Amino acid sequence: MPELPEVETVRRGLTGLVKGAEIEAVALPYPKVLLSNPAAFQEGLQGARIEAIDRRGKYLLFRLSNAQTIVSHLRMEGQYSVEPVGAAPHKQTEVIFTLADGRDLMYNDTRRFGRMQLVATGTENEVVPGLAAMGPEPTEDELTLPYLRTILQQSHRRIKPFLLDQSKIAGLGNIYTDEVLWQTKIHPETLTDQVTASQVADLRTNIIEEMKRAIKNHGTTVHSFSNVYGEVGKFQNQLDVYGRAGLPCKRCQTTLEKMKVAQRGTTYCPYCQVKVASK
Ligand SMILES: [Zn+2]
Repeated sequence: MPELPEVETVRRGLTGLVKGAEIEAVALPYPKVLLSNPAAFQEGLQGARIEAIDRRGKYLLFRLSNAQTIVSHLRMEGQYSVEPVGAAPHKQTEVIFTLADGRDLMYNDTRRFGRMQLVATGTENEVVPGLAAMGPEPTEDELTLPYLRTILQQSHRRIKPFLLDQSKIAGLGNIYTDEVLWQTKIHPETLTDQVTASQVADLRTNIIEEMKRAIKNHGTTVHSFSNVYGEVGKFQNQLDVYGRAGLPCKRCQTTLEKMKVAQRGTTYCPYCQVKVASK
């Protein structure tokens, strides 16, 4: 699943390619992708110009000139591609935005889990439940130390599913959660209220820095992720634990292990990430 750095990579690519473009027509080979009424979606986009593409957590927000916003979530394997005039749709194309300059912006999704809807700009944080409940972006300014300290102390959940919860912190998924827990030497099953004060501070720094590094490297390519230019991200070459179960820990050489935490495959170092006994 694309996480924040991958979605941000897509956002930057789309901005370069289609910002300013006018949508002439919309075809819907797979209308179930929409959470909006298909006819209203098509009519609402006709003649609209894409003024900007924003991101919030793992959501893309296409800001249109007619005060509407397309809210798009890629989920497992959603992808955008920009095709030259006359290109045939892919087998898994779900939406085709025909642009006035003749190109097509296509939304393709092999798993068909991604969703899209059209809302009035400014209402998205009320009408899209995932946005309404979303926690702060994992940045220096938004993810403050007092906030992180408080939400960890107030909860009694295991840290791994807690970090995956988008209502606590926006944008983290399975890959980067495993990475930051390894970096901070926290066992994935540690209860949030047992994370020490110095670990909270380190965890915050590691989350913020990891997001920056991954964005700089255009995200991680697992399965089918690629940016809108069809290029793959390069951050997988820098991952310390994710996908490395059975290989030696880069810090202590202990063999990394894989376990399930809240149904999610989790890779960790049994030596560096010691489990604290539950109180
Ligand atoms: Zn280790």
